[in-house]
Amino acid sequence: MERKVKNIALIAHDNKKAEMVSWAMKNASVLKKFTLCGTGTTAKLVGEATDLNVKRYLSGPLGGDQQIGAKIAEGEIDLVVFFWDPLQAQPHDPDVKALLRIAVVYDIPIATNKATADFVISSVLLGDDR
Ligand code: PGA
Repeated sequence: MERKVKNIALIAHDNKKAEMVSWAMKNASVLKKFTLCGTGTTAKLVGEATDLNVKRYLSGPLGGDQQIGAKIAEGEIDLVVFFWDPLQAQPHDPDVKALLRIAVVYDIPIATNKATADFVISSVLLGDDR
């Protein structure tokens, strides 16, 4: 059966978490129409700052990116907002690359900065079945 509500995954590296929280607060009225999930700390912070229910996967460095990547491969994620940090090395860099890769493999929109996330969240395609 076709899913009706789209699933959005939220991920932010440490130096980008404040930006993610403020983006989610600003867009909470749109985001609440979707099923949300995220890596552990990002999901926790967004959930605390908003009234949004964000399913928590593991923290990114502990496998959360891989869990979300697996969900993409299973067709369970429709959009990823991933504020990665281009200025700091990440212990889980291979997982970060794998997540970016699998999103492209499955042609899932993946917004990797706020400007792109702003475009995507206001897209008419958000309401469409893909
Ligand atoms: P976190 O993981 O939300 O648990 O901090 C994000 C990441 O570093 O990929």
